[in-house]
Amino acid sequence: MSSDPIPRKGTRSRFWERVPMNKMTAREWEALCDGCGKCCLNKLEDEETGEVALTRVACRLLDDESCRCAQYDIRKQFVPECVVLTPETMSQHAYWMPATCAYRLVYEGKPLYDWHPLISGDPESVHAAGVSARGRTIPEFEVPEEEWEDHIIEEPV
Ligand code: SF4
Ligand code: SF4
Repeated sequence: MSSDPIPRKGTRSRFWERVPMNKMTAREWEALCDGCGKCCLNKLEDEETGEVALTRVACRLLDDESCRCAQYDIRKQFVPECVVLTPETMSQHAYWMPATCAYRLVYEGKPLYDWHPLISGDPESVHAAGVSARGRTIPEFEVPEEEWEDHIIEEPV
């Protein structure tokens, strides 16, 4: 089993099932992330219908192999538009988040999948389940924005 890049020790037992989002500790909040990397893929939103399409064009800071942000702690310096999720902003963002995203699932009162590292105990299980962005992306500096629609994909779920 590989080491988990997201610290999950020191969180309460099955906190995601019984602690409201706004009562989670900072560590629990971060531990909720399954590490899929799909939120770091660029999306296209239809202004009229509000429909959101996912593309395989990744944010410039996403590492395609680890599915991690290369500069997570200081990412806003490089990508000012990167969304910082909080319990308070979930209502604004849930609609565009990946269907398997743990924040979205918990926000919608749904259970986490068995492959979530909090349940499996293994950070690789999200990739083994085939639901992450690993190996699916192309960097945004290789594709002009007007061509993103040529790279629309179905979310791997
Ligand atoms: S989609 Fe959700 S669970 Fe996946 S990396 Fe992004 S925040 Fe974490
Ligand atoms: S800055 Fe980092 S966390 Fe934000 S979208 Fe890009 S890769 Fe993801």
